[in-house]
Amino acid sequence: ATPLSITIATGKGAQYGVLYRNAQALERTAAVDVVVFDKTGTITAGHPSLTHAVAYHGTDATDTPLDDATFALIAAAETRSEHPLAQAVVEAARDRGLDLPEASAFTSVPGQGVRATVQGHTVRVGNAALLDGSIPAQQVDDARGIMERFAAEGATPVLAAIDGSLVAVLAVADTVKPDAREAIAALHARGVQTVMLTGDNATTAHAIAHQVGMRTVVANVVPQAKEQVIRMVQDQGHVVAMVGDGINDAPALVRADVGMAMGTGTDVAMESADITLMHGSPMAVVTAWDLSRATMRNIR
Ligand code: ADP
Ligand code: MG
Repeated sequence: ATPLSITIATGKGAQYGVLYRNAQALERTAAVDVVVFDKTGTITAGHPSLTHAVAYHGTDATDTPLDDATFALIAAAETRSEHPLAQAVVEAARDRGLDLPEASAFTSVPGQGVRATVQGHTVRVGNAALLDGSIPAQQVDDARGIMERFAAEGATPVLAAIDGSLVAVLAVADTVKPDAREAIAALHARGVQTVMLTGDNATTAHAIAHQVGMRTVVANVVPQAKEQVIRMVQDQGHVVAMVGDGINDAPALVRADVGMAMGTGTDVAMESADITLMHGSPMAVVTAWDLSRATMRNIR
């Protein structure tokens, strides 16, 4: 592309909230034929809220509501986590009017959850992988049914254990962004394939994918592995754009042929990306692609 056409396209992009880091970013986007989307904060709004909280009493997780004292211990452990799921749990506890005790010895396990000491108790909150090995395997099995039920609704199930025993199953649900479905349809109409990439479980991920019209889902991806998935798609001969918002997404954004960061996300994601989508809107991916195509067409 000529310097002038690039300048014009860059200016136009800025009008639509599409900020290119450099001319190569604009040029490469025209060749993209697969767009990989992170789920939380990219396809979904990233402000999930608690939808269920049931107690586990040693045989089965039933519909027994969770008592306040246990809820407070669980939420206390989540106060130091920056994960949107943790914030949803803390917010729900505050809405209940609970006072949250201090948490110490806080450890965050990326892609799994948190561990902390609260009032002398060891509290673990996260997915099945986090609790695997630290609670009896039977308890994880007991929880599977209700976890699947929550996940089928598109919610993310969250397990909580105190002192090595399962005490609760929570569910946290996020809503899809208003223009996500339209953006996916527009990409498909242009012959661009889409993939959802998430650390969340497969059932929840598929439920969300279904809501926005995505058919390909890669779930249960630990943060370090997102980059490997991008590499795998590239090895199939595709030119890949990755769209994400989180710290976890940074290596994948760098690895992709074009990294696109949601401007509503973390600084680390934006620093790692070739393009920043200012308003966090999935439709901006389509705008970026169209603009790039139009610019490259002009010069051929
Ligand atoms: P995503 O790609 O959806 O942003 P992450 O890789 O951050 O997911 O986390 C993967 C999974 O680990 C989450 O879906 C959740 O089940 C669990 N998890 C991570 N952090 C927390 C937390 N602070 N509280 C509860 N669960 C968590
Ligand atoms: Mg995210």
